[in-house]
Amino acid sequence: MELHSLTLHALRELIIKKEITAKDAAFAYTRRIGQVEPEVNAFLTLTPNKTIEMAERADKVISGQPEAGQPAPLLGVPLAIKDNMCTEGIKTTCASRMLENFIPPYESTATRKLMDAGYVLLGKTNMDEFAMGSSTENSAFGATKNPWDLSRIPGGSSGGSAAAVAADMCAAALGSDTGGSIRQPAACCGVVGLKPTYGRVSRYGLVAFASSLDQIGPITKDVEDCAIMMNVIGGHDPLDSTSADVALPDFTANLKDGIKGLRVGIPREYFPGYLNLPQDWKQALRLGERSYFVSPGIDKEVFAAIMEAVNALQSLGAEIKEISLPHTGHAVATYYILATSEASSNLARYDGVKYGYRAKEHEDLLDMYKRTRSEGFGPEVKRRIMLGTYALSSGYYEAYYKKAQQVRTLIKRDFDDAFKDVDIIITPTSPTPAFKLGEKTADPLQMYLSDIFTISVNLAGIPGLSLPCGMTGSNLPVGMQILGRHWGEETVLRAAYAYEQATDWHTRKPGM
Ligand code: GLN
Repeated sequence: MELHSLTLHALRELIIKKEITAKDAAFAYTRRIGQVEPEVNAFLTLTPNKTIEMAERADKVISGQPEAGQPAPLLGVPLAIKDNMCTEGIKTTCASRMLENFIPPYESTATRKLMDAGYVLLGKTNMDEFAMGSSTENSAFGATKNPWDLSRIPGGSSGGSAAAVAADMCAAALGSDTGGSIRQPAACCGVVGLKPTYGRVSRYGLVAFASSLDQIGPITKDVEDCAIMMNVIGGHDPLDSTSADVALPDFTANLKDGIKGLRVGIPREYFPGYLNLPQDWKQALRLGERSYFVSPGIDKEVFAAIMEAVNALQSLGAEIKEISLPHTGHAVATYYILATSEASSNLARYDGVKYGYRAKEHEDLLDMYKRTRSEGFGPEVKRRIMLGTYALSSGYYEAYYKKAQQVRTLIKRDFDDAFKDVDIIITPTSPTPAFKLGEKTADPLQMYLSDIFTISVNLAGIPGLSLPCGMTGSNLPVGMQILGRHWGEETVLRAAYAYEQATDWHTRKPGM
């Protein structure tokens, strides 16, 4: 097997045992990037000098290390970072003209922790502008292509990170997730992605989109890698007032303990028409082939793959239960009021005064603001700023923003109630496999609807993981979403690991 196709944990083994150097690993990835990046466009910035420098530093640490010493968890491991996390001295653009030349004077906490763990930076990955989108087509610097089918989207907004992992251009990557931006691209690209509990990973140095929903998380080749990354990036950070002071467990400790007796919930609202769970899964599968049986918008092959996966969980000893999330139907509307409101406030700072783009020509200060913002932001970002400004304006605030906050509480309560009866919840990650580039760009509402299974998770603040659970007839990956209680990542990862090890979906790779 080639070095670039190894999992993070396999690669780390080789480096620690000194069978290869960190520099070997770095070269393997830079070579691979040279081969496939021209077709995929997963990166906005490559940092070859930094890569070599960090690999050499790792090698120095390794050669000076006593054999019995405990090596740093990511020593010499090459990773990619979504371009909305500040990296000191390295361009951080958010895929926006507004920040095209922005070089942060400080490091985000998540990437600082990766540094302390010995990682090697390969580059910064493509995304939807300011993380607003589900396809990476909103990047000001050109879309990323799905490595499984270059005519399709990789998902978004962390599409560059997911595509880079899927195409073996890095050992793992960081993404951010406000409404599904780690999980949906992970599903589209056939890799693992985890949005942690809100407050688990520091947001310090993450360029803000919607601060009450944003979380940083890993995108990896398998579940064990995901647990290793979580051990590094999680934990309380005094620099982020919303980071929670909750003990960080070792996510690898109970990973392999199995799921005998685990109670698994299937939300009735996500599969309308499918009653009498969990009596007969095979029956569901057969009926799922009939379109009237499947929730409008859920692809039949996605539905079938999820039902098969639920069967597999049952065979592993899990107990399947039907649950209800009654406010599901309001999630998309609630999210698009709250996320746009927060975005309109967060993005007010891009006024051309202190940093970022400034319009060349302008008559006075007001004109400078106007031109800077109309030239610097792309169409989706402008749409969101306008929606959010409207929802927050006097007279509408009560009707929209306040109402959406109330519904958010109801959605969170749905999950609290459900988790009284079950330990995890299973849903599809995305209603469809990766769609064609350009297919939904003209219809924002269609694009927003692809978040249907992921956004309520951010509204509730709970953890959600996507992992591969099937392939469609046209060879596109399907993702299953596993949800857990607040701070319940350990259980989510354990269930994901058990399923992953019982199947071989995670071993498939796009033929690039
Ligand atoms: N697709 C969703 C949106 O456009 C979620 C994006 C995200 O999670 N950053 O808002």
